[in-house]
Amino acid sequence: MRVLVAVKFVPDLQSQRSFTDGLVTRVAEDGSMNELDENAVEAALQLVEAQGDGEVYALTVGGPDAVAAVRKALQLGATYAIHVNDGAIAGSDVFGTAAVLAAAIRKVNAEAPLDLVITGMAALDGLTSMLPTALAVELGWSQLTFASKLEVAAGEATIVRHLPDAYETVAAPLPAVVSVTDEANKPRYPNFKLIMAARTKPVTVWTLADIGVDPASVGAAASRTTVIDASPRPPRADRTIVTDTGEAGTALADFLIGRGLA
Ligand SMILES: Cc1cc2nc3c(=O)[nH]c(=O)nc-3n(C[C@H](O)[C@H](O)[C@H](O)COP(=O)(O)OP(=O)(O)OC[C@H]3O[C@@H](n4cnc5c(N)ncnc54)[C@H](O)[C@@H]3O)c2cc1C
Repeated sequence: MRVLVAVKFVPDLQSQRSFTDGLVTRVAEDGSMNELDENAVEAALQLVEAQGDGEVYALTVGGPDAVAAVRKALQLGATYAIHVNDGAIAGSDVFGTAAVLAAAIRKVNAEAPLDLVITGMAALDGLTSMLPTALAVELGWSQLTFASKLEVAAGEATIVRHLPDAYETVAAPLPAVVSVTDEANKPRYPNFKLIMAARTKPVTVWTLADIGVDPASVGAAASRTTVIDASPRPPRADRTIVTDTGEAGTALADFLIGRGLA
């Protein structure tokens, strides 16, 4: 089984965010692989391990620092890492990003067919959850989104999707694009041997020319969506901070009673 996982490099969620022209200001070395993509890597590894045979490709599209995302996937056990890095991609919207990912996936697929592409359920910076669908459209493959369970058998992928008041079971023929939720599995911790091995494993770097994408078709100028405005939320003014000097319990109770909450 050959599975490709799309992993995104995202800014550190604990860091102070700022915006430039409506876009998140990216600071080199201030980020890591999107945490929800650990579930995607885990799903791919489990499928390959269950079959006892196969390969897991980790693919990221992003600036020079995005290589950290595929290195993390290697630490978790991915077989190969690919980083599409080209200045012309900067500022791409979801459609441009999907087009670049799809072109890279087609190149891998041309060498030997892939069975599945697995993504996380959302990137914790962009949070649109649109990329998996846009990618499936670009590839012309089936899509199965928000899988909290994933099984592959007899040329078909089957997922269970948790809705607020129902469980859906949906199947699609391979190859397919599947996005998995954080309920799909429990991601493993990288072990020391894999961490050391990942430091020296090669990462294949492709430019747009390598994957046959016209630079004019991606990037900010080609984006179909425009962020009208983005600005930091002002700090909440209605907060009461109780400093514990031994009387915090009483102060908290008084606070709640004073507002009719207890
Ligand atoms: C090179 C580059 C520069 C960008 N520059 C900026 C910028 O300056 N400021 C800004 O705010 N936004 C920027 N974008 C953000 C970009 O437009 C969106 O983040 C992207 O389209 C995906 O949307 P999302 O983050 O909502 O992902 P979602 O749809 O929420 O992600 C779902 C899943 O798709 C996969 N995925 C998403 N993006 C990628 C990726 N790039 N590589 C591999 N897998 C992925 C992951 O598995 C993820 O869990 C840039 C994107 C790229 C590629």
